[in-house]
Amino acid sequence: MRTQIVAGNWKMNKNLDETEVLLSELSAKLPDTHAEVIVAPTFVNLVAAQRNLQSSTIQVAAQNMHFAENGAFTGEISADMLLNIEVDTVIIGHSERRSLFGETDDLLSKKTKTALEKGMRVIFCFGEELEDRKSENHFSVVESQLKNALFTLNKDAWSKIVLAYEPVWAIGTGETASPEQAQEMHAFIRKTISEAYDSSIANTVSILYGGSVKPGNAEEIFSKPDVDGGLIGGASLKADDFVAIIKAI
Ligand code: 13P
Repeated sequence: MRTQIVAGNWKMNKNLDETEVLLSELSAKLPDTHAEVIVAPTFVNLVAAQRNLQSSTIQVAAQNMHFAENGAFTGEISADMLLNIEVDTVIIGHSERRSLFGETDDLLSKKTKTALEKGMRVIFCFGEELEDRKSENHFSVVESQLKNALFTLNKDAWSKIVLAYEPVWAIGTGETASPEQAQEMHAFIRKTISEAYDSSIANTVSILYGGSVKPGNAEEIFSKPDVDGGLIGGASLKADDFVAIIKAI
């Protein structure tokens, strides 16, 4: 049985007060679940989030990190800084980092390697753009994103990788990949990993779906055999919506 995960990527939302309110609401309403529940608030609120969730099973992740150990990288955050505040999960490769901040497969490969060397868990995001899907290149785009950033990792590293397939056309647009489209791509991802490594890695890595997951569509998406949970944006900013999505898994 693969680990099932529901993770909320808060992006650049929620100030300190709002972070504490949302976390308190989430802790109070958290249903019994077999899934891991993760939230990724903005950097400045990670310490407060950790403190707020000390007696909760909800885990805290960072939305990004730099690959270097330390040094002259104004505005950046290192793996050690995250670990020092007990944040040991990091989202890498989100499409907004790729498209708005120019993060390339090569850079994402470096970030992933550093995070893994430091013992962190990586939620690695990838997914095709609308033009890729329209031109039926979505499988080859996803394959190359995985290959370029992850397929030089050794086998052992994969126990610390969670994949998040997020078709860019479905992020924040209200447009969701159909459960069938999600399943088809997740199965393709497992096949690709199986060919590059082996079936045991392919069958144990958790693959989350992200892109306009809402209380109304979560259950059907999560019911697909190769979908192991979700990476939730907008709907993770409201306790009731996020809780309903957790209940759907
Ligand atoms: P939405 O759920 O708002 O579409 O965002 C998905 C996402 O980007 C999660 O990382």
